[in-house]
Amino acid sequence: MAEKAVAKRMMRLEVVTTREVVFASDAEMIVAPGTEGSLGILPLHAPLVSALEPGVLRVRQHGAEVRMAVSSGFIVVKPHKTVVLADAAERAEEIDVERAMAARERALKRLTARGESIDMVRAEAALRRAAARLKAAGREGDPH
Ligand code: ATP
Repeated sequence: MAEKAVAKRMMRLEVVTTREVVFASDAEMIVAPGTEGSLGILPLHAPLVSALEPGVLRVRQHGAEVRMAVSSGFIVVKPHKTVVLADAAERAEEIDVERAMAARERALKRLTARGESIDMVRAEAALRRAAARLKAAGREGDPH
């Protein structure tokens, strides 16, 4: 019985990019930035596939929170296993805050310049990735 109760509370999470496995471990709860809104996932969640937008992936593990920044990707949820496939993902402590601030600055300059040669969609996407990284690192409010 006790084993069953533990099994019910746990699931596995894998966060992978084409470059690396960023996270592969047990998780008690996951909150992911779905394109249709925030997705809260507990063990035994119904199977689900969703696209992700740039944002913060929060994982509760052994009572503590692990935060990661993810750029665009997909999440595949099964009752005992969730896989996140992302273009890029970084654990909060691996985020280079200066780099993300510089990326945010560049994107903001491009968006305000609004010249014909500026790819606005690309600049907006870069801004959202930078904002997600700063948020995951706990630095979203810092001045640019
Ligand atoms: P930049 O303009 O600074 O390169 P970007 O948003 O264009 O930012 P991506 O194309 O999303 O960067 O990512 C390229 C690689 O660099 C990925 O492996 C990603 O994990 C890593 N990366 C990007 N920005 C950071 C950062 N601030 N800290 C740590 N790793 C980062």
